[in-house]
Amino acid sequence: MPTMPNSSKILRALTAAACTGAAIAALLSGCAGTATRPPATPDDDSPATAHAVAEISPRAAAATRRLVAGNVRFVWDHMQHPRQTPDSRSGLTNLQQPFAIIVSCSDSRVGPEIVFDQGLGDLFVARVAGNVIDDHVVGSLEYALEHLHVPLIVVLGHEYCGAVTAARDTIAAHGHPEGHIGSLVEAIRPAVEATLGEDAEDTCKANVRNVVAGLRSSEPILKAMVDSGEVEVVGAYYDLDTGGVTFLGDS
Ligand SMILES: [Zn+2]
Repeated sequence: MPTMPNSSKILRALTAAACTGAAIAALLSGCAGTATRPPATPDDDSPATAHAVAEISPRAAAATRRLVAGNVRFVWDHMQHPRQTPDSRSGLTNLQQPFAIIVSCSDSRVGPEIVFDQGLGDLFVARVAGNVIDDHVVGSLEYALEHLHVPLIVVLGHEYCGAVTAARDTIAAHGHPEGHIGSLVEAIRPAVEATLGEDAEDTCKANVRNVVAGLRSSEPILKAMVDSGEVEVVGAYYDLDTGGVTFLGDS
């Protein structure tokens, strides 16, 4: 049987685990109030199958379900703010066991712990404008993978991203930004050039997919862990208007 691409596997797990009406109802059971906004959904309408869920590692699937459940709570205004008490803090002084890594933009509107309604010790987060990667970021992820055994990496782009907009505008004007911002523009340039004539959302998603591909092929550590199935790397897109996170396919 051919190997299913990682993101496709994740998408099917999401569809099966968290995006059916029954699952959404289960996630929200016990919550009062009227939901007025859509839940987080993958941008894939493939039918869910139990078989597909079994193809990703159980730990990555469980991590994905926790993220989706938290984002659904956030979108529907049923946040639990878990593990944010002094007791939670004191319980983490000697260890951390985050269940997911998030590579997200530095934008003040895109805090992963808030967007996914998680708490202290839950997420290992690397944030840089435009959610791009360099050796420092990759080294941070390698630490989390090797020493904290995190099974899932989510590269999280977002709507109205200033870094993506700046890259598009600078490249369109053949400009040269001052200071170190130019390094961000160059990191996003492949996505800009691949989406000429398209809108900023397309550029942002292309940039996310480029970063996902870069992490999956990063040698020697990430590539080996991806190939062995120890870690899944997926892309996602945060909609500021709805609060929903959409998990992206590979194309
Ligand atoms: Zn941004």
